Amino acid sequence: MNIKKYKVKDQNFKLNEFATAYKGKSLSKEEAEIQLALNIEKMMTLQDQLYAQNKYALFLVLQGMDTSGKDGLIKHVMKGLNPQGVEVYSFKQPSPLELSHDYLWRIHQHIPARGKIGIFNRSYYEDVLVVKVHKLLNQLPEALITENIWQERYQDIQHFEKYLGNNGIIPLKIFLHISKEEQSKRLLARLDNKNKKWKFSEADMKERAYWQDYQQAYEEAISGTATPSSPWYIVPGDQKWYARLVVSQILVETLEKLKLTYPIITKEQEACLEQYREELKKS
Ligand code: AMP
Ligand code: MG
Repeated sequence: MNIKKYKVKDQNFKLNEFATAYKGKSLSKEEAEIQLALNIEKMMTLQDQLYAQNKYALFLVLQGMDTSGKDGLIKHVMKGLNPQGVEVYSFKQPSPLELSHDYLWRIHQHIPARGKIGIFNRSYYEDVLVVKVHKLLNQLPEALITENIWQERYQDIQHFEKYLGNNGIIPLKIFLHISKEEQSKRLLARLDNKNKKWKFSEADMKERAYWQDYQQAYEEAISGTATPSSPWYIVPGDQKWYARLVVSQILVETLEKLKLTYPIITKEQEACLEQYREELKKS
């Protein structure tokens, strides 16, 4: 699989030039599941090295419209990883305390520590998406709410991600791209399945009415924040099995680029370890 075609290359990015569905013939669902399992195995080793080396961290930002499959993807792609090395955090509507701070305040405490993989189910990108679509800026001084505010936020986000990257904390951003028709199917499926009815929310219906505004907000936010060191990938989301495979591939390749290794044992350390071996044999 070539993931390059899903990577945003420049700031002239157009969301509608990216597919929401896999239309190829070469990959079946069954084959994709086999490949996903292989990628999960690779990730297990890479994660083990990341943890042992304790220098880098990776954080995956998962964004997408309601029903785009964020929760399922986390469940299916991250299974098999060592839970001690993974931290998943879902960002919901900010609390009054969170709103009384700058919007990255609540984020920073969940940025993964070295050796760990952090997964953000939604993120600070909501502050240039839902906040933009619904104009939720009441807590700010009026003088700061100008027509430049979104460009300023894209710049701030770029700097924030660059800063983290300079610290060995590597950002990776995924947009799960589904069609409006697919969302309707998935919402209907929730109504049809008694075990899924609980997932249906009135809020999803309300947000669906703003579909176009969200697509535009995503396009602008992604254009404004896709950089070589902090890339965005637009993953076709209409077939969940395909999206899961693509994301697993992106994760594997991103981790491989870090050239992770287990900590090197020096000759002196080796000699010490041999002494311990002898002691253990005697005791
Ligand atoms: P869900 O992902 O379905 O659990 O819903 C979480 C909700 O929280 C979504 O509707 C998000 O748009 C909303 N949300 C997340 N972050 C923010 C934010 N910074 N401001 C306003 N709403 C947010
Ligand atoms: Mg929701």
